Amino acid sequence: MSAELEARRTAAAAALADYRQAVEAEAQRGGQPVPWALWAGRLGAALDSVLAIVLDGPGTGQAPLTTAQLSTVLAALDDAAAFRTERAGAYCLECSESPPGLCVAHADDLDQADAYRYVTRAIGGRR
Ligand SMILES: [Zn+2]
Repeated sequence: MSAELEARRTAAAAALADYRQAVEAEAQRGGQPVPWALWAGRLGAALDSVLAIVLDGPGTGQAPLTTAQLSTVLAALDDAAAFRTERAGAYCLECSESPPGLCVAHADDLDQADAYRYVTRAIGGRR
């Protein structure tokens, strides 16, 4: 793995770990809701950062990753899709008042989850 990809992977893993810790803390406290927009921005940026290297490799036409590295990227995409899907399913006043039952932000979450799954399939994943 290149040093740059390793650094970005580490940053993405840290963002995901922080997010999971925040969700766990919220579940235990039942207090402050998780700031979804902030987390979506941070996780999305981390994913974009990793994908920029994975998908735009050094012009060989192949992803510059080992099988294990590709596995990690696929797992990150899976986590990102699960995060977006879970967030879209959370209770939301705007969703409950929307005729289709889904507000614009949560419809966007489902669209983004679909996009992550599309990329997963495109780079060799099965979801
Ligand atoms: Zn909503």
